[in-house]
Amino acid sequence: MKNLATPITFLLVLFAIYWGFKSSMPTYQMDETVPNTAFSTDRALKHVQEISKKPHAVGFPAHKEVREYIVRDLEGMGLETSLQSGFTAGDWGNLSKATNILARIKGSGTGKSLLLLAHYDSNPHSSLGASDDASGVATILEGVRTFLSEKKTPKNDIIILISDAEELGLNGADLFVNEHPWAKNVGLALNFEARGSGGPSYMLIETNKGNSHLIRDFTAANPKYPVANSLVYSIYKMLPNDTDLTVFRKDGDIEGFNFAFIDDHFDYHTAHDNYDRLDRNSLAHQGSYLMPLLNYFSDADLGDLKSATDDAYFNFPFYGLVSFPFAWIWTMFALVSLVFLILLVSGFRKKRLNPKDMAKGFIPMLLALIVNGVVGYYCWPILNKVYPQYADILQGFTYNGYTYILAFVLFSIGICFWAYHRFEKVSVPNLLVAPLLLWLALCGAVSAYLPGASFFLVPMVAALISFMIVIHQKSPSPFLLMFLTLPALWIYAPFIKMFPVGLGLKMMVAATLLTTLTFILMLPLFGFYKHKNRFAVLGMVLFVGFMVSAHLDSGFSKGNAKPSSLLYVLNVDGQSAKWATYDHQLNDWTAQYLGVDKQVPQIGDFKTLSSKYATSFTYIANAPMKDIKGPKVEKLLDTLINEERLLKIRINPQRSVNRLDVFVDKIDIKRASVNGVPLSKNYLDNRRNNRLITHYISDNDTTSLLLVTPRDSPVTLNLYEASNDLLKNPLFSVPERPLNSIPMPFVLNDAIMTTQTVTF
Ligand SMILES: [Zn+2]
Repeated sequence: MKNLATPITFLLVLFAIYWGFKSSMPTYQMDETVPNTAFSTDRALKHVQEISKKPHAVGFPAHKEVREYIVRDLEGMGLETSLQSGFTAGDWGNLSKATNILARIKGSGTGKSLLLLAHYDSNPHSSLGASDDASGVATILEGVRTFLSEKKTPKNDIIILISDAEELGLNGADLFVNEHPWAKNVGLALNFEARGSGGPSYMLIETNKGNSHLIRDFTAANPKYPVANSLVYSIYKMLPNDTDLTVFRKDGDIEGFNFAFIDDHFDYHTAHDNYDRLDRNSLAHQGSYLMPLLNYFSDADLGDLKSATDDAYFNFPFYGLVSFPFAWIWTMFALVSLVFLILLVSGFRKKRLNPKDMAKGFIPMLLALIVNGVVGYYCWPILNKVYPQYADILQGFTYNGYTYILAFVLFSIGICFWAYHRFEKVSVPNLLVAPLLLWLALCGAVSAYLPGASFFLVPMVAALISFMIVIHQKSPSPFLLMFLTLPALWIYAPFIKMFPVGLGLKMMVAATLLTTLTFILMLPLFGFYKHKNRFAVLGMVLFVGFMVSAHLDSGFSKGNAKPSSLLYVLNVDGQSAKWATYDHQLNDWTAQYLGVDKQVPQIGDFKTLSSKYATSFTYIANAPMKDIKGPKVEKLLDTLINEERLLKIRINPQRSVNRLDVFVDKIDIKRASVNGVPLSKNYLDNRRNNRLITHYISDNDTTSLLLVTPRDSPVTLNLYEASNDLLKNPLFSVPERPLNSIPMPFVLNDAIMTTQTVTF
């Protein structure tokens, strides 16, 4: 390889990676002045700004203000709106009174309707909900405005559902799908969501059947920046999910597309989910999906979206969404295997391959895989030991998380160059056999067990062409070989980033292994590089550099604030009070209350409150008694019918509260309902931590329980009632947090909680 070809192709590889990321989503540009008939990100941003001024979770004062803002905006477009309100408890015993906002654009036809969906509630208690999900609401408001300004009548009805209480238990979606008359005729739902505050928006299909008709029509709708792949689709289908669309699929058998961005996961559900931190490109990306899909599906036949078969698909720069039926997979696999065999034979014939060197080719590959696998697997537990403060970021993705990903990817590349440097004597064709065999085995395995990942065959085809070239030519064109690495680069580089971002840094091993696997597919190019040791050294130097940078950013600051938590817990029965926290590392703010005589709570001291990660208190300390009342419990009915005891209880708040957790010690609950909502037998039999229900309270509503138990069983209830006003309650003088700290998300926080036990 000529001297300059090495640095030039290497730079081209770097540029291709950059371009792969860059070209997958739009770049935000000021567009306030675009005509009314076009979607404007700036106009959508105005909605985000209005909606995300204050936390607006169910039961919070701003919740109603946000609802009124959305209703006003829809009515300003000339649409008639209606509210649908009622209690539901979802699948996990999370009760709330949801109030959905609904509007409809009447279509000219009689077919199924298209539904646009986003939720307007924010996560309790501190999230400002700019990304999650004001961005979704804003996308729909601006999209519908754009659509209406074109003044054409759609064939299908377009239903706009701005749902409520998504964050609590998908209650609004539950209410609509199961109780609203419009739900029966919905053919397709488009849901706009966020689980972080930036990055590309991924399209995710929700269906009970196959995806091929959905992919066919999505492709026909032709959104400009499709980011989607069937690997994620296959994995998603295997996991229990919890988006609003899950309710549409399970309860209504309605097909759906989710559009959600997940980067900057550390902002998710925090006070940092604010207007300033919302990535403008992500919002523009949502708009770039909505408009073509709205135009297409408002006229398409929505009765024809269900299909028995699946497609594999992935997005590719310049082309968009590539798809092929699952039915082709084994034929493709057989062809690829056959071509590999033919190339092996021709390699032997041309004396370019020999068994000994082919066998040697396994050593650097396995060496790199083992070293990078082990390092990827253990790096996060070790980093957690070195930086115990990371334990307080419950999302598992730290503020310096991207730096860590970059560092370990560079480390992996360094190791790969080092391993192959040691085998420089082995020729490139011989070195390539082991990676191709491994990838062939991988493709076979995914074809059988994870067919959504069968598009792995595409980079494999490019690698086989390279294999053919290096067998037939002694000094092939480095630029041609570089060109043939593009499928691997553009398909795998996004995954290398996405796994640790989406699943947390504990999944770094996915990034290091996938980097290694991508590297070995690029061996036709890298194999010809002289001085691989220099690249190894470069990789390691950069690794150290980025680790130092991550270290310098490992502390907390205003922009990278520390999640902290404080609760005041009053035991009403025993007349004792405690400060409590979930923090592993206290800051000055929490240490004011838990610094001196903090204790680790004993098992059984407190019930585990329901939260995303089932987080328990880490420390408690004695607190002064305050005059705070627990709820008043009334027995409305206690009677025996045959062998069953029927018990009716009403729990009345005696102060302004946000939430009530009811625990019932292990007894056989035959039936139960809360505020008229029956809880499923399946849920009752599989309750966790004895929790019966969490009621997210609005307007200081009462909680009415109906329990049916065997005739002689005593019923013991533990009631944990909480308000999120610890920092504002006049009985306390808890100061505001310092600027480098935010309320810990996902858990009951900044709360005054009473606990009491009642036995009937
Ligand atoms: Zn959300």
